[in-house]
Amino acid sequence: MRIVIASKNEHKIAEVRRILGDVGLDVDIVSGLRWPDVEETAKTLAGNALLKARAVVVATGLPAVADDTGLFVDALGGAPGVHSARYAGADASDEDNVSKLLRELEGGGDRSARFVTAIAYVTPSGHELTVEGVLEGSIETHRRGTNGFGYDPVFVVEGRTLAERTAAEKSVMSHRARAFRAFADALAEAGSGI
Ligand code: IMP
Repeated sequence: MRIVIASKNEHKIAEVRRILGDVGLDVDIVSGLRWPDVEETAKTLAGNALLKARAVVVATGLPAVADDTGLFVDALGGAPGVHSARYAGADASDEDNVSKLLRELEGGGDRSARFVTAIAYVTPSGHELTVEGVLEGSIETHRRGTNGFGYDPVFVVEGRTLAERTAAEKSVMSHRARAFRAFADALAEAGSGI
């Protein structure tokens, strides 16, 4: 099966390749194609993933997989949520977003949090499916570790932040890995119907 991963982020594509290998999904990830930037205007992660996947199918004529991830923090009523990438502003860096998150949590409250990844798969013949993966954890009071990206330095699972884990370790347990396992299951279940 040939698919396009709707991302221009090399880190993410490398992680997806590793995860797809781990889950035993036999896909050929087509790279080097181009498509227009897609504005993430939907209110849900699944909605945004679908917008991206549909745009890539239109531009490339190939089946496409897109993901959208959010960090949901209980003390902040679920923020940053679908706005995680631009939490500290439209051009915010990972560094800016983490700093804002730590500032917002200085007032106390429940630091329980979860990463959620929604994956959308869209084919040129119009089949669409979405699945989700969740990783439960909590937000540290300061950064720890140097691996990974995004909110990894402050997201703790069982005593260690994701930035204190190796890429291999993270790609087994992550929200994205869980979503891709659900995706592999959904594809297997759909069989040749998709
Ligand atoms: P995106 O949907 O992958 O663009 O991610 C949305 C936001 O969540 C961005 O700020 C990312 O840096 C952050 N993010 C996504 N996945 C992860 C992860 O695995 N660890 C830490 N942060 C992540």
